[in-house]
Amino acid sequence: MSLPNKLAQERRARLAAERVLEQKQAELQAAYRKLGKHAQALSDEINETRAEVQFVKSENERVKSDLNIAHQKIEIAERRLWHSIETIQDGFAFFGPDSRLIGANRAWFSVFEGLEDVRPGITYVEILQFSTEEGIVDIGNEHPAEWRERMLDRWQSDTPEAEVVRLWNGAYIKMIDQRGHGGDVVSLALNITGTIRYEKRLKEARRKAEAASRAKSSFLANMSHEIRTPMNGVVGMAELLRETPLSEEQKLYADTIKNSGEALLVIINDVLDYSKIEAEKLVLHNVTFDLERSIQELTMLMQANARDRGLSLLVDYDLFLPTEFIGDPGRLRQVMTNLVGNAVKFTEQGHVLIRVVGFGLEDDKSFRLSVTIEDTGIGIPDEKIKHIFGEFNQVDGESNRKFEGTGLGLAISEKLIRMMGGEIWVESVEGQGSTFGFSVTLPVADSYQSFDFDLPAHIRQVVLVEPNDLTRAILERQMRALGLEVIGCNTGERAHDLVTSHTDVVITDHAIPAMDGIGLAASLRKDACTIPVVLMTASSDQVAGDARHTHLHAVLKRPVARQELISALKSIDPPGHTEPDEAQSTSPEENGGIAPVEDSPQRALKVLAAEDNKTNRLVFSKMLKALDIDLEFAENGLQAVEAFERQRPDIIFMDISMPEMDGKQAATRIRDIENGTGQAVPIVAMTAHAMEGDADAILAAGIDFYLTKPLKKDSLLERISAVSTGDVRCPFGSEGH
Ligand code: ADP
Repeated sequence: MSLPNKLAQERRARLAAERVLEQKQAELQAAYRKLGKHAQALSDEINETRAEVQFVKSENERVKSDLNIAHQKIEIAERRLWHSIETIQDGFAFFGPDSRLIGANRAWFSVFEGLEDVRPGITYVEILQFSTEEGIVDIGNEHPAEWRERMLDRWQSDTPEAEVVRLWNGAYIKMIDQRGHGGDVVSLALNITGTIRYEKRLKEARRKAEAASRAKSSFLANMSHEIRTPMNGVVGMAELLRETPLSEEQKLYADTIKNSGEALLVIINDVLDYSKIEAEKLVLHNVTFDLERSIQELTMLMQANARDRGLSLLVDYDLFLPTEFIGDPGRLRQVMTNLVGNAVKFTEQGHVLIRVVGFGLEDDKSFRLSVTIEDTGIGIPDEKIKHIFGEFNQVDGESNRKFEGTGLGLAISEKLIRMMGGEIWVESVEGQGSTFGFSVTLPVADSYQSFDFDLPAHIRQVVLVEPNDLTRAILERQMRALGLEVIGCNTGERAHDLVTSHTDVVITDHAIPAMDGIGLAASLRKDACTIPVVLMTASSDQVAGDARHTHLHAVLKRPVARQELISALKSIDPPGHTEPDEAQSTSPEENGGIAPVEDSPQRALKVLAAEDNKTNRLVFSKMLKALDIDLEFAENGLQAVEAFERQRPDIIFMDISMPEMDGKQAATRIRDIENGTGQAVPIVAMTAHAMEGDADAILAAGIDFYLTKPLKKDSLLERISAVSTGDVRCPFGSEGH
């Protein structure tokens, strides 16, 4: 080959090699670039990972330190817990679900001191075993195996009952075990030795106190008996002395003896009642009674005192409320007497109003009754209101220091009402008056028949003459509730003007100004007006002897029971009937206690009185001296029975404590004699006994009624007037008593 060719060929080859080289270089370049990028990505990734590692590291550090702190806290808490558990002087232990001891405080272990096996890991059964075998627990007469079995049964129950055990050293331990969720048991062993000893001492003290209280109660009962018996003589004789001709000075002495004696008796009774309630000796005697009548009797007793002080004493007994309930009439009367007595005592002028309202419960089988006593007296300062129900507490202000009293009345009343399940309260404005009230729930008596309130159709319009605004308002309201049209006024003259041909009846108080009630009736008759006139009077004596009495349709004794008023209205004949000449002759209850005149009396009422005490016999006979009766005395129970058989008296008054045969035995004997004859002579016990249970025993002996000494003339007369026999002369003469 030519040189040029060779050169050309070499050149071509070189050029080709250069191209290949270039291409390879470009490829290398591209590979470098790719590598660079990859290296960059890698280094980025490494950086990121490093940061993450750093973060995780620091997180780890933080968690580690938190863990450390938590650990420390747990340690502190555990230490504190143990410290506290150790500080507890009572035993504390906890067991695992397998009943093995996990741990316990020193106090718990101290009971097993010296027994090395009693340590964590020991089972409950083994602990029981040690307790009996080593004599740690004093199990008394119980057999050890039985005791352990009983303890184990208890331990295995879901809620083990607390158990008190006695240790060998006389300490008492109360074991309280609590089962947890996982089967763990926490055990507390409380040392109650002090409490048990204290309890024993308390029981002993209580036994002694009860014995002392019983001794106190019987001492009081005996004392009251001993004091009341001579007081009978003192008060009774003073009362009789008062009825003999005396100089003014002597009268004053006699009155003072009587009043002081009575005041002393009130105090004795208050103190006695209070101690009986305190000694829980007082029991309520629930019987059927007439609440309205009780209130009226009480009002009549208080009326004289209220009238002397110029006060009106009024009763507003809700017209449609039943009257017969089951309750303790004596105790209710005691509460009301106290509240009304206080109201009269602390009221200088105005009125005292007893209001009875109520609502039926359980289909009217019982009633929630509320009795309030409102007065217009001195009132009670706010800050003293709570204080006055406390015993011996009085509003010790200038205003009432002049009033007598023990300060026990309200305390007793409150306790009695509480015993009846009721409440007592007071509202008062100083200087304006007070309202005391109580509420009780009483069952209506089975015998109670609701009264027929329907009046005859011809009684529509009433002219009511009553000077006292409040009384008139009460009566007007009651009569309107009966469907009557009432025209009220306060004088006879005004009434005279108001009576028209539409008037069906005139109801008038006797004590009206200018002309009295009878005068009004007489003046109507004078004008040929025949309208029936019903008279209300506080004292029937004022009316009894008055010839003008004949103008009256009926006489009602105040306070007037609703039933009596309605009966009087019902007994009015329709117009056209001729008016009877005489006032209607009604029974003593219906005509307000005025006894009807008896026709052709044959014999005197026979009264037998059994009384061993000479002074008391004298008092008794003097008290009844004015009566037209045939009185015979017996000096003991035997004589009483003999006299009964001989003369068959109409009524027997029987002392209870008498020699040879006491009053109860005599009464039982008399009832035996009467057995089968269909007769039962009223027997009235006279007793100075005051303790609970006496009344029961007295009534159980067949005695109908009992009076406590000192005897009151009024209560004797009341008992005598209650004897109704058709063939005897009225013991009170023709005008009643
Ligand atoms: P006593 O009437 O024997 O003092 P009470 O317990 O019945 O005892 O009454 C306590 C006190 O309450 C009375 O002394 C009197 O200060 C006050 N008090 C009771 N009732 C009334 C009343 N109606 N008006 C004003 N104060 C009264």
